[in-house]
Amino acid sequence: MSNHDKAITNTSASPYVKLKSINFGDCKWTSGFWSEKVETAQEKMLPYMGDLLCGDIGHGLNNFKIAAGEKEGEHKGFYWHDGDFFKFMEAKTYIYALSKDESILNELDEYIALIGRAQEEDGYIHTHVQITEGVDRFENRKYHEMYNFGHLFIAASVHNRLTGKNNFLDIAVKQADLLHAYFMPDTKHYQRFGFNQTQIMGLVELYRTVKDEKYLRLAEKFINRRGTYEIKHDSTTEGYPIGDMVQERTPLRESEEAVGHAVLALYYYAGAADVYAETGEKALIDALDKLWENVTDKKMYVTGAVGQAHYGASTSLDMIEEGFIDAYMMPNMTAYNETCANLCNAMFSHRMMGIKEESRYADIIELVLFNSGLSGISLEGKDYFYSNPLRMVNNTRNYDAHADVTESPVRQPYLECFCCPPNLVRTICKSSGWAYNLSENGVAVVLFGGNNLETTMIDGSSLKLSQDTDYPWKGIVKITVDECKDSAFDIKVRIPKWAVGSTLKVNGEDAGVDVNPGTFATITRTWKAGDTIVLDMPMEVTLLEGHDRIEEVRNQLAIKRGPIVYCMETPDLPENTGILDVYLQGNTSFEAVHKPDFLGGVTVVETEVLLRQGKTDDMYQRVTKPVFNSHKTQLVPYYSWSNRGQAEMTVFMPVVW
Ligand SMILES: [Zn+2]
Repeated sequence: MSNHDKAITNTSASPYVKLKSINFGDCKWTSGFWSEKVETAQEKMLPYMGDLLCGDIGHGLNNFKIAAGEKEGEHKGFYWHDGDFFKFMEAKTYIYALSKDESILNELDEYIALIGRAQEEDGYIHTHVQITEGVDRFENRKYHEMYNFGHLFIAASVHNRLTGKNNFLDIAVKQADLLHAYFMPDTKHYQRFGFNQTQIMGLVELYRTVKDEKYLRLAEKFINRRGTYEIKHDSTTEGYPIGDMVQERTPLRESEEAVGHAVLALYYYAGAADVYAETGEKALIDALDKLWENVTDKKMYVTGAVGQAHYGASTSLDMIEEGFIDAYMMPNMTAYNETCANLCNAMFSHRMMGIKEESRYADIIELVLFNSGLSGISLEGKDYFYSNPLRMVNNTRNYDAHADVTESPVRQPYLECFCCPPNLVRTICKSSGWAYNLSENGVAVVLFGGNNLETTMIDGSSLKLSQDTDYPWKGIVKITVDECKDSAFDIKVRIPKWAVGSTLKVNGEDAGVDVNPGTFATITRTWKAGDTIVLDMPMEVTLLEGHDRIEEVRNQLAIKRGPIVYCMETPDLPENTGILDVYLQGNTSFEAVHKPDFLGGVTVVETEVLLRQGKTDDMYQRVTKPVFNSHKTQLVPYYSWSNRGQAEMTVFMPVVW
């Protein structure tokens, strides 16, 4: 039997998961893009974030100190700040697992001891509710108790798996038992508490860690409750929109459309996928299939981002915030695209890939990682975007218009609403755990990047592979079998959907298998040490247009090369040129040029654009034949924008053929 119970999501014993997660640490990035990102995470992102969260700028640690009675003061930060701190701890745990740096373990132990002292006798731990006078437990779902608990359960499960220690897990179990006592009975007051439902994923992960089925049943209960009550405000819902905003209008099993807050929706779907992985309930996966299709084929940006609007309405006319609106309604400049939502899109897809054993889900994981996920942090690793629009034009939005400003024209060194930064950093830290999965008699190559894999297959035999590539800048990936069993097994190589015309060779000869974009190419043979697989993906600069129904991009193009989406940014234009003046020439050349010393080392796309002259500020104006000046310039990877000062930027540009 499989011994992969040290995975990020431990699917080793999940009966309805075909592609099992590898133990975290079995794969390590060794060179190239993700190796450098993880190094930056370890050396810059996490120390900087630690200074924020453990000092007086962020309030993560202070809140626990106050709750433990070891410091005077009020709760600061948003309701979900404990959850942010747990995500930070989870990220640290991954770096510990990769580096075995004992000082990280000791630091985590100190945090855990403090959290333990802050935890109440019966298991309750939520610093805002504990510290704030006049606020009771489970009084209003907006306090995000479920969210914080969920991140506690996940972080503690990961900590237990990767350190072998029980100190954090004990705290989580105590809290989960309390949650079970409150929420398992059918009480009216508690039926609507699913708000930002990380607890569903967390409970399933806890079930996988301690093998107590009551956590799985409770996770299922949170799904089953949705849509079983009248949608009107009561004392537990005041302060936030109700209905579709929190996916409570339609029972999940009847849902066909992604609605409401994008983070709330995708954490919920990811949790439901975790429940399906254990129960195999058909109605659940049928609904998740429809929802995944709806998200990725009707409501997703070309960058993999989701959540089109800050404020809007669902098709049932429920008010929504930070979330999904109508299909194909894809504003660029006002797109919300919270970093967390984009990352959740990858988390949901990762779970679906395991369940379905299909490569198309991994295409979404990769799209998010390289584009709308990574755009959430600066190259230096110290500044954050919460919102990730596809176009930024100066002086068109009033960024101070809302009390909780989450849209900003440049990345910020601290976000009062701090959910995204630790979510992104933990994702970078754990990315090597997503690089491979294990099939029944084989291994699936999911992500490309220089790495070593040292794992055991599901039958227990030893497997060592290494990957050598300059991906995403170059399309050649060389995989070497370093050690394997004597009998035949599968190596499944993901052929990205964009990688049309790819070839696959084994030991220099055609692999003799179907190489279809958007699928795993499965090579079954008796492998031996020294065997090589070479995947060659043509890295052509590609022009993309949107579906005809996306009004916002009619007659506009985006540029993509491999998994990387490009954008035009004003530092690459003549002074005083606005981003809206730029037109692409559809029939000119687009040349990829690698610049190792630019923006941390990127491949840019050089081309000659047209700059529109003579437009006025009138809302409507008479036009004859427009006048253009031509300008030779470059496009940069979307994730790398806003690293050269405040700038205008656009992904889509009008085209002249
Ligand atoms: Zn967030």
